[in-house]
Amino acid sequence: MFVVFLVVLAIAVYFYFPNKGKRAEMMVQNKLNNLPDEYFSIYNALFENNGRSTQIDHIVVSPYGVFVIETKGYKGWIYGGENVEYWTQNIYGKKTRFYNPIIQNEGHVRFLSYLLRDFGNIPIIPIVVFNNEATIKTEFENHIVVNRKRLKRAIRRYRNEVLSAEVQKKIIDVIESNSRTGSSAERHHIRNVRNRERQSVRDVRNGKCPRCGSDLVLRRGKYGDFYGCSNYPNCRFLINKRDV
Ligand SMILES: [Zn+2]
Repeated sequence: MFVVFLVVLAIAVYFYFPNKGKRAEMMVQNKLNNLPDEYFSIYNALFENNGRSTQIDHIVVSPYGVFVIETKGYKGWIYGGENVEYWTQNIYGKKTRFYNPIIQNEGHVRFLSYLLRDFGNIPIIPIVVFNNEATIKTEFENHIVVNRKRLKRAIRRYRNEVLSAEVQKKIIDVIESNSRTGSSAERHHIRNVRNRERQSVRDVRNGKCPRCGSDLVLRRGKYGDFYGCSNYPNCRFLINKRDV
């Protein structure tokens, strides 16, 4: 009987307390909910398209454009680059690598542009958000990468009204009618992403670019050796040698 109780308790704890990635997302969503009424936010939208799934943490539809926000629950020092395949978290000397969230979010932008193609060329603005405890050690020229406390300011810098109330409403309808939420959808998505990652590792070990299939070439960089795509600059895939 006691064992049954423990199992039930463990399951309850597992579902009740979200992991740190989820917690970070919920704190960001909280910030977005506090924006003025002209900003409409959608949390955790999952889209399925031709067997491929796309999960977007937050989408904000506003008169100023559509913001696509990727949240990362990392703390410590964050080192990255706009094109490098993996970024590094360094916390008390312990290094963890993670997939470049700018590239990840660019995929989300491409998907949304496709989904919203009937509206013409609407501005879609990608933003990557880290915990307030993270120190972002890289400067980014072409992308917005901010701590949570700077997120609202980053969004409100956009002041040109480009979408009418009617178009915004239609955009929200298209997003909501094409996405789903729920934990089974999420599990399916995670499996999908892991398969894709495994395939990409296999490609790199075989000397092939996972993005375009061209050969990889070993190059010497300021921060160490890396494999780059031989199809550069058409394809900007690169990965640090030590990450292979
Ligand atoms: Zn390539």
